[in-house]
Amino acid sequence: MTHVHQFRFRQFTLSVLLTLGTIATATAEEAPHVRTGTLPTTWDSGGPRCMEMPEWQTHEYNPDLLILRQSGCTDFEKPFVFLLFGAERALLLDTGSRNGNIAPQIALIVHRWLARNGRDSIPLLVVHTHAHGDHVAGDAALKALNDARMPITLIPATVEDNKKIFHMAHWPEDLGAVDLGNRIIDAIAIPGHQDAGIALYDRQTGILFTGDSVYPGRLYIHDLTEFQNSNERLLRFTAGKPVAHIIGNHIEQTRTPYVDYPEGTLWQPQEHELALSRGVLLEIQAGLESMHGKPQRMAYRDFTLWPRGERDPAEEARVEAYKQQQRAGMWNQTGP
Ligand SMILES: [Zn+2]
Ligand SMILES: [Zn+2]
Repeated sequence: MTHVHQFRFRQFTLSVLLTLGTIATATAEEAPHVRTGTLPTTWDSGGPRCMEMPEWQTHEYNPDLLILRQSGCTDFEKPFVFLLFGAERALLLDTGSRNGNIAPQIALIVHRWLARNGRDSIPLLVVHTHAHGDHVAGDAALKALNDARMPITLIPATVEDNKKIFHMAHWPEDLGAVDLGNRIIDAIAIPGHQDAGIALYDRQTGILFTGDSVYPGRLYIHDLTEFQNSNERLLRFTAGKPVAHIIGNHIEQTRTPYVDYPEGTLWQPQEHELALSRGVLLEIQAGLESMHGKPQRMAYRDFTLWPRGERDPAEEARVEAYKQQQRAGMWNQTGP
């Protein structure tokens, strides 16, 4: 290399660095104002020792958003539920699966929040991402809680009840919202996995909660056309808005691209992180469009599109045998 070339190279490098510097500054200044929080690098799943595991893992994303995960030792679904606090009321999204014993856990957290904020009570609104059993199983127990410090309004997971509470005249086209007090939560109807499905968008944190419609795992599609329309609705809604995370209700994917844990797995030491980005909505849309109305399973890096049709009896039997084997071994897990 001659001196001239070297000089030109340095000039070029310098100008690139200056340009990058300018971009970095501009990005920081233009970053949307979302309230930040943290997610754990790993969650408890169902083990390694069920005897030692609490029914719920509670994670404080920030002081006014708690994410809870039900232990796989209570039920293989190990769903997530979400507790958001506003100035005037709190919102619980979903109540978990069977054997969750969720009511005392929610009471404990709300009491702690009240103590920290020097308050006597806060009303709690309970809504659901959808009506499947692994997300509404705690409804009865919560409804029965007679706690003056957290009076509960439980909204059943139906289209009609969702329309009322979120003020949506036309389902599923209309957007809805509920205000928790200085904290507006948008509601987007997303039938397709289940008829009463909704996604919630928390303007404060920029988190989009998507239930079983978008999460790192098997996205079971009940109605392909509805599912596609709902995903388009999510894409339109989020366009131009900050999306800090897309957070769904399960993790079934491993950390290895394209590989998921089989249905019924309790302990998932190498599971995928919970949060996804808005990019997955685009991937989902491309996948759905490529089906041209003909349902088929399609594996992606972080999820699988899984239209639900008639189940192959052999596959059904395999899944059932695996579930039984998992349950049989749960008290005798020996750890890593
Ligand atoms: Zn579901
Ligand atoms: Zn589910």
